[in-house]
Amino acid sequence: MKTAILDNKIVKIVNRDLPKVGKNDVLVRMKTCGICGSDLEKIFGNYGMRSSRIGHEPAGEITEVGENVKAFSAGERVFIHHHVPCYACHYCYNDDFTMCEKYQSSNIEPSGLSEYILVPEWNVLRGGLVKLPDNVNFNQAALIEPIACCLRSINKLNLKKADKIAIFGAGSTGLIHMILTKLFGASKIVIVDINEFRLNFAKKMDPDITTINLKDKDANEFNNKVFSSVGQMGSDISIISTSNLDAFVKSIKITRRGGTVSLFGVPSKDSDLRIDLNLIYSKELKIIPSYATSEKEIHQTITLLENNIIDIEPLITHKFSLSDSFDALEYAHKAKDSMKIIITSPD
Ligand SMILES: [Zn+2]
Ligand SMILES: [Zn+2]
Repeated sequence: MKTAILDNKIVKIVNRDLPKVGKNDVLVRMKTCGICGSDLEKIFGNYGMRSSRIGHEPAGEITEVGENVKAFSAGERVFIHHHVPCYACHYCYNDDFTMCEKYQSSNIEPSGLSEYILVPEWNVLRGGLVKLPDNVNFNQAALIEPIACCLRSINKLNLKKADKIAIFGAGSTGLIHMILTKLFGASKIVIVDINEFRLNFAKKMDPDITTINLKDKDANEFNNKVFSSVGQMGSDISIISTSNLDAFVKSIKITRRGGTVSLFGVPSKDSDLRIDLNLIYSKELKIIPSYATSEKEIHQTITLLENNIIDIEPLITHKFSLSDSFDALEYAHKAKDSMKIIITSPD
């Protein structure tokens, strides 16, 4: 089978033997796998989390199940979650599933960017393999993981109807946050980026939003532009959906007193930042990081898709075949005219 490996920050496609299917394992033929900002961080940046595999947003069709597997059978269409918690540790008891030791060490074999993916017993037995409803196609399925990540971030924010939202980063997760915060009742949404293509893309998807291009705007001009859109008090919630550190600094200024900043985009490891801590204290800002997602939000996402409550497919601008994975990653990194890029496996 063809599979992608990361070799010194370059992704190569190699041929490997099919993985052996253990008694409780499931083998899936990959149909689609999304390219994520964290994949790009692993190649073009400095990723601080433990996993170094590329491709973690796969969906496909089961080709083989272990002899003890009763809940799944060959031919079924599934979403695969690569990380699965233990549900039996102090972190899990406190619903901090993504902080569970096993969550961060569990994984699929060899990765999402592979013709075949072995879903190990650990994942199969603990909700890491989920059947897709008939009306959820594989394009949508490649977006389940990032939508679920955004849902987890939003579920932590105590978002209220009519809240005013500022989103930094008009990439695919910025736009998913846009779609979801609107769905949950946001009254105003401002999206900030320096990429005109992406800002226009966001505006086309939702003409009600305000877009701000940070390029050629000084700090005061930027703040005024935000305040003229969400009101002088500032945003109730600011969502950092980029790894750009300056976005966090700016968000501190434009979030209202008592408001919330969501740290969603992955900052590079060893990111050093100079901020006025007194501003965070005196404004009583809540800073809420959100890493990855859990079973609850995956099911919430599938329900949203199954019932056509969100229209997510328009986010996919490019498809690359598995053999061209590295081109896809480079293309996504340039972000010239792309939003979500997905990898497909030949039939
Ligand atoms: Zn992802
Ligand atoms: Zn645990």
